[in-house]
Amino acid sequence: MKVLLIVVDAATPRVVVPAIQTGRLPHLQRLAEAGQMQESVTMFPSITPAATTTIITGEYPARSGIVGAAWYDEAHEDVAYFGDDFWVVAREGFRAFLRDFLVGLNGERLTSPTLFEQVEHAGKKAMCLNYLIFKGNVAHTVHIPKLLALLPGVSLTTTVHGPSTLCLGDFVATRTLRGKPLIDKGGVLHRFGMDDASTGKMLAEVAEDDAFADFNVAYFADNDYRSHDVGPHAALDVIERVDAALGTMFEAAGGMDQLLRDTWVIVTSDHGHCEILEDADQAAIRLDVTFKELQQAALGKPWADGDQIMICPNMRAAQIYFHSKDDAELARVVELALADPRVDLAAWGAGRSVQGSTMYAAASADGRLDFWRGGNGDASARDAYGTTWSWRGTLDVLDVAVQDGMLRWEDYPNAFERLAGALDATTGARLWLTARPGCEFEVPGGKAHLGGGSHGGLHALESLCPFIVAGPQPLTLPVEMRSVDIAPLCLDLLGLPSVRRLGEPR
Ligand SMILES: [Zn+2]
Repeated sequence: MKVLLIVVDAATPRVVVPAIQTGRLPHLQRLAEAGQMQESVTMFPSITPAATTTIITGEYPARSGIVGAAWYDEAHEDVAYFGDDFWVVAREGFRAFLRDFLVGLNGERLTSPTLFEQVEHAGKKAMCLNYLIFKGNVAHTVHIPKLLALLPGVSLTTTVHGPSTLCLGDFVATRTLRGKPLIDKGGVLHRFGMDDASTGKMLAEVAEDDAFADFNVAYFADNDYRSHDVGPHAALDVIERVDAALGTMFEAAGGMDQLLRDTWVIVTSDHGHCEILEDADQAAIRLDVTFKELQQAALGKPWADGDQIMICPNMRAAQIYFHSKDDAELARVVELALADPRVDLAAWGAGRSVQGSTMYAAASADGRLDFWRGGNGDASARDAYGTTWSWRGTLDVLDVAVQDGMLRWEDYPNAFERLAGALDATTGARLWLTARPGCEFEVPGGKAHLGGGSHGGLHALESLCPFIVAGPQPLTLPVEMRSVDIAPLCLDLLGLPSVRRLGEPR
């Protein structure tokens, strides 16, 4: 049995599901009808590098080590920065791309094994087509496109470790599908082969050659770019092209039914998108202004003498690091942040209880809520996966109700577990902030996605992903799928052992 996991960046269920149901995405519709379609809840922060890492490792940032698109690595006094569209080499510069993405993100910063590593360790073969998190056991040479090789400081070869078959645009091609490299075919206009057209072409060729590995991941990035520019609804034409590419792949495989005989096909996204208001004053939050009374570390630089806080914006989320452990300073920053009506939530690690539980705190205009795992509080209830949570304060902060002893989430799906999965990260900040729907944290010198879309926060608008799976036989899934369940599901479908169970409490 094989697995083909297709990740369509930023595909948003409130856009994609109606389009499937009304026949605008006919191939996804056929796939959903052949199997099943539901929603899946992503992790927090709902941002590409961290979210794609969670999918491929099955772990929240606390264990995966990838806690956003930007964070401060205190051990190395270095700001990890993968940008909001970090594979656009032209923007960041190729050296940074090589170092951060090819080597850092898939090297020492990643602290949990990927599915590629696990599958190949178990003796099966894996294939990665343009997926950003590709760490595996096999060395591959990076080819520098001619145009980029001319840049000063770019070394001509670098080695990365990926699955047996690794195709990353113009940079890495293990073997070419037809014995002829795609190298230098993408070029600047096609994001050096890291765009949807290239992924679709590779998928069709693999299907036609009947060359799928046991486990395969293909990644379509374009929808995220387009959704940032025009919002998720207006970007549907990009998903239509992905749908067409899947149709071509099915045809090349001899038809969808033929492919599904021995292959499980999963289609999902890493996060959704939230519309951003057009007016800059309403939409763009400049935390450097909000916190102007405090001395701030220079953007992207380690601590300097006298610095009090460091701000790492992650689109609709932001991490705030503190130079000292002074609780009064944390309280002051939370107060300043929530005084801005465009800031939605503040969340921070609140130490340990007398019983030894890790405590978490969240605050909004509605007040404060402290929560922790275990049933030893005055108020407690279970989540959908069997974890009992206790709390103190008002549940209004996270818009959750209790019904028959169960937590019922509204605006912030699975909020306790997802916040814990970020706040427990040793590389993450002490304090996280999220923006109200319609708003975004703007990096000084950057540009908010005004009139477009964005993500990163905890809200349902950006936290839900479509989840479609079809294969040789019926399948039982957790009622509320999470992105952390995708890796154990893939291992189950391949008949391989998994350290995590599908739907287990986290
Ligand atoms: Zn994304």
